[in-house]
Amino acid sequence: MNRRVAALLALVAGASAAACATTPLRPRVVDEAALPSARLLAPMAWPTAADEAFVDLRSYLMSDTINPPGNERRGAELLAALLAKDGIEAAVLELPDDPTRANLIARLPATQPSGEGALCLVSHIDVVTAEAARWPPGRGPLEGAVTTDERSGDQLVWGRGALDMKVLGLLETEVLRWLKRLQLPLRRDVVLLAVADEEVASKGMVDAIARHWDKLGCTHAINEGGLGIDGALVDGQVSFGISVAEKGVLWVRVKAVGEPGHGSTPVPRAPQRLLEALDRIRAWPRPWRVHPSIYQLLAEVGHEAGGVTGYVLERPLLVNWLAIDRFLDEPAASALVTDTVNITGFAGAKEPNVVPSEVSALVDMRLLPGTAPAAVLAELRALVAGIEGVSVEVIDQRPAAESPWDDPVFRALAHHAEASARADGIARIAVGPVLSPGFTDSILLRERGVRAYGFVPVIVTRAEAATMHGDGERVSKRNVARGLKALLSAVVDVVAAPTAPH
Ligand SMILES: [Zn+2]
Repeated sequence: MNRRVAALLALVAGASAAACATTPLRPRVVDEAALPSARLLAPMAWPTAADEAFVDLRSYLMSDTINPPGNERRGAELLAALLAKDGIEAAVLELPDDPTRANLIARLPATQPSGEGALCLVSHIDVVTAEAARWPPGRGPLEGAVTTDERSGDQLVWGRGALDMKVLGLLETEVLRWLKRLQLPLRRDVVLLAVADEEVASKGMVDAIARHWDKLGCTHAINEGGLGIDGALVDGQVSFGISVAEKGVLWVRVKAVGEPGHGSTPVPRAPQRLLEALDRIRAWPRPWRVHPSIYQLLAEVGHEAGGVTGYVLERPLLVNWLAIDRFLDEPAASALVTDTVNITGFAGAKEPNVVPSEVSALVDMRLLPGTAPAAVLAELRALVAGIEGVSVEVIDQRPAAESPWDDPVFRALAHHAEASARADGIARIAVGPVLSPGFTDSILLRERGVRAYGFVPVIVTRAEAATMHGDGERVSKRNVARGLKALLSAVVDVVAAPTAPH
């Protein structure tokens, strides 16, 4: 890129490029001492609080809520018992027709109501399945092993859900307990919502919204979706993305039918028709488009990095010219700037010598904000039109959803993600909004008008991030300590009433 950068800088030299730099998200310098959290959290004994959170997280990881089958009532009762220690009542709300599955809702009411809606601290209790035999011996998905990292000397707790997402669910529970213990004056309600079944069918969130919405009243939510990754975009720099948007989905079955027959004589039947349709789908051009959150994150990364890289990343026009090829070359980055089309499986084959009368393929399309599922579906149907016997059935569709990042909750999360990292000796960090390529329960909350932010307050390496849904998932005590500080401070800054306690 450097040669191209130099050539281009010569071309655009001067004011025109400088004028199109992305504006900063929030003030670059914040008077830390003036924040409500600085004053109200002064009595916190952070190391003791971190010890307690780490022990509680270990118990939560040992509570088997692997989904399927889920058994989330177990996890909900564990969180309810932690809240009860500080006198906070929680409702464990069973899902319809299944006493083993439940959501949890607990509320700290505003002491000096300002009329703002509740801040909801959201998590899912269930975790994905794990292949225990692939995990290190003695450090299985439900064993709650605690080890010491050889390199850093830091303690690690192992278990399915350590990152996705029992760590945030537990930290949110601790935040509620600390708000109660410190008897902080609240200007808005704070609600803890821990739901079942996010990893399979979102039955928990669907039920919470359908039957218990009146108990929630959220206008803002903090949920999973973003985290800090060391060296994600620039070597030696942590880039911390707070998820403000999630791509939509269009899931379809492409079906081909024809006369069944003998495999010995190749004549065009259902399988050949399906292949022709899939050839067209594979060659279907999907132009790139950069969501504003990505420009903003790149600008923050560039500002921190400085130099030529910084100059380019802070300017959307130069990103389009110089950095987009790199994005498109890398699958994870490419998914952030295109409507993706992924053929994910097949059905219908019988025996090698039997041509079936029907075969089909599943196609998973993920759509950027601004791309309507109906428009893509119409385009897809037109693409395969004219191939005899081929049809497209919709399995599910949902448009992308986004929340604005010019918002006090976003700013508080961004500030404390950065401040807590710097206080912990992590000098190089850039924080910005990000679009998530997959979706979480936040997509359902955003449909109800809630501003949702994906913020798991941990900083991990790429390898550690890959343990989510993979093998050997773990989280360090340092992350738990820093995460508690970041989350509690951010929550206090957005919910504390103006008067101080005495
Ligand atoms: Zn998750």
